[in-house]
Amino acid sequence: MKVYFVGAGPGDPDLLTRKAERLLRRARFCIYAGSLVSPMVLDLLPVDAERHDSASLSMSGVMSLILDARSKNLDVIRLHTGDPSMYSAIGEQMDELNRHGIDYEVVPGVSSFQAAAAVLSWELTIPEAAQSVVLTRTPGRTPMPESEDLAHYARTGATLCLFLSVHAIEKIAHELALHYGEDCPVAVVYRVSWPDERVVRGTLGDIAEKTKLAGLSKTALVIVRREPPVGVRSRLYDGSFSHGYRKGDSV
Ligand code: SAH
Repeated sequence: MKVYFVGAGPGDPDLLTRKAERLLRRARFCIYAGSLVSPMVLDLLPVDAERHDSASLSMSGVMSLILDARSKNLDVIRLHTGDPSMYSAIGEQMDELNRHGIDYEVVPGVSSFQAAAAVLSWELTIPEAAQSVVLTRTPGRTPMPESEDLAHYARTGATLCLFLSVHAIEKIAHELALHYGEDCPVAVVYRVSWPDERVVRGTLGDIAEKTKLAGLSKTALVIVRREPPVGVRSRLYDGSFSHGYRKGDSV
């Protein structure tokens, strides 16, 4: 008996890994994060598979379901939205599984920030402007470690992908404008890859207003990326630059 922590991807079943799809199609017992996992993905489960929404459960509730599956000798598919390594509390669940001597495996998924970058047609790294991408959140009811406040990352000028934070867009935009400038592009992507996906593009100066007008207050990512400087190219395809797989023209 084994527990599979499976990345459900952002919503569209076409964005599942082949391994995730294979596991879902033959699942007999599935626990899913109902607030975020898309019904289109759950549709891949066999009709007679046992399915449980974990949205209203505490850790002990999730564990008793897993122990129930073990008593029936059934593998458990534990579905988390996007990639399970981000904001899914799989760590705590693994601690519990370790305590009970239950085997587990993680199957990665396409994270919502990757799907959002694709929809925006944005490269998140920009030659000579931003060579780092910060995946973070702002505090809600969950506090943030003091050393990770937004201004700290904003000072680096890195591209920022903010999870779980769209409700605070006004405060975020105001704070980031101090570092990136009011004209810095920003996008809010709601339910990326779902049929009701919404994309709001703007600048740090106007995004709060636009987001409010669009009525988006949850299940959205905020991505802030500095304007690529005109004419600056990466060295990857620069003809005069040699690397392990290509000799530069001038060499
Ligand atoms: N593990 C997930 C993140 C879970 S935290 C992942 O890798 O994407 C939940 C937050 O993720 C949401 O508040 C939102 O910021 C973001 N999110 C998850 N699914 C999303 C989707 N389909 N579209 C936009 N944002 C999404």
